[in-house]
Amino acid sequence: GVRVRIAPSPTGSPHVGLIRTALFNWAFARHHGGTFVFRIEDTDRERSTDESLHSIIELMHWLGLTWDEGPEVGGPHGPYKQSERGELYADALARLRESRFTYDCYCTNDEAAARRKAAGSKVQGYDGFCRELSEEQVAAFVAEGRKPVVRFRMPDGSITWDDLVRGEVTFETEFVPDYALCRANGDPLYTLVNPVDDALMEITHVLRGEDLLSSTPRQIALYEALKEIGIAKVTPQFGHLPYVMGEGNKKLSKRDPEAHALAYRDQGYLPEGLLNYLALLGWSIAADRDIFTLDEMVAAFDIRDVVPNPARFDLKKADAINAAHMRRLSTDEITHRALPFLKRDGVVSDPVTDADAQLLELAMPLVAERINKLAEASAMLGFLFVADEEFSVDETDAAKLLDDKGLEVVRASYDALTGLSTWSTEAIQTALQTALVEGLGLKPRNAFGPVRVAVTGRRISPPLFESMELLGRERSLARLQRALG
Ligand code: GLU
Repeated sequence: GVRVRIAPSPTGSPHVGLIRTALFNWAFARHHGGTFVFRIEDTDRERSTDESLHSIIELMHWLGLTWDEGPEVGGPHGPYKQSERGELYADALARLRESRFTYDCYCTNDEAAARRKAAGSKVQGYDGFCRELSEEQVAAFVAEGRKPVVRFRMPDGSITWDDLVRGEVTFETEFVPDYALCRANGDPLYTLVNPVDDALMEITHVLRGEDLLSSTPRQIALYEALKEIGIAKVTPQFGHLPYVMGEGNKKLSKRDPEAHALAYRDQGYLPEGLLNYLALLGWSIAADRDIFTLDEMVAAFDIRDVVPNPARFDLKKADAINAAHMRRLSTDEITHRALPFLKRDGVVSDPVTDADAQLLELAMPLVAERINKLAEASAMLGFLFVADEEFSVDETDAAKLLDDKGLEVVRASYDALTGLSTWSTEAIQTALQTALVEGLGLKPRNAFGPVRVAVTGRRISPPLFESMELLGRERSLARLQRALG
């Protein structure tokens, strides 16, 4: 059956590119009823951190990208952390060496580069100098105190594979130098551990970012050797997912704030919204359709439909897609999902009081259709929950709307509302319309702005009359009065 994997290196804050790769692997596995493996590629011990690993695991849980083998769940091919698999790599390396698929190399990088330069060679990297050393040469290097690295002997000719995304790809091995599989101190390198793990974990399809394209010919050559020594059964099929481009048509990098996957969770994106957007970075369900569920993606996903052209990251589009998923949720569901954000932002207490829960139930229908991300509920609803002595008006909005003319509107509104016999949405609306549109001759479109800012603190708020009804007569009038100073 199909076995795919992600192999994130736990360094730094997880990138959206990693999530896109995880999503495509997951969808591929689920579509084929296969196995999705989560392996931790922490060979770079100095840069790997537990914090980064925990963030990746947390993200995967939040997104619902469940894995079948890996951290927390284990599996038959463990351990799933490279730092715990040292013996397996040492064994593979010893067997490769024994079968002469590798050789010991005593050169420094500088020496190799100097030779390349002297020869006027355009090829980068190692020149194969140590491929056939005599015993005397080896002895001389050892006597100098040099410690060898182990290099893989790249075969002559060319390496071609049918890339699942890009079609046929060919590399001339003349341009793929013999590469090191471990450091001089014996520590295995990515070049060794990644294919050895794929082999031992019986990975059938390697779907990963295009940045790794150039390591594929090396890995395919290594696979041939691993098959001969009985470590690999088959060479996996490879598919390289397109680059994700950010601002200025440059590769999205860790420096771009929109590259950080956790930020989406913290801003209140829905997992289904973020995943739908990330799916579009290379794939689409149909030419005329952007919005789909994960189930729909799984049912339709074909890796051969992924386009190789670079994908452009577009935050506005991501927001719009998330908004479309918000519109699919019931108000109750939005309340349920927004609650952690309202607590985080101090809009309601934790645990939420009965009074606040009741108010929330009445207020959420006013905003559910107006927010594109869950965390926006905090800014929209804060004015209802805030203690009166802590209520404040946004300064920029006040400067624009509570000028002399605005205050005249607020005064007229206060006068019209103070004598209302019933405090209801309709009564408030009628009173304000009469006072402002008929009384002051204002256009309905901009009549209510100053009242909105005075009562809710912002120019963007839930519908004004409903908001005032919920806020109550006393508090609404007090805020109007407060604006008047
Ligand atoms: N650890 C590699 C990375 O994070 C993944 C390599 C691979 O998928 O083959 O870029």
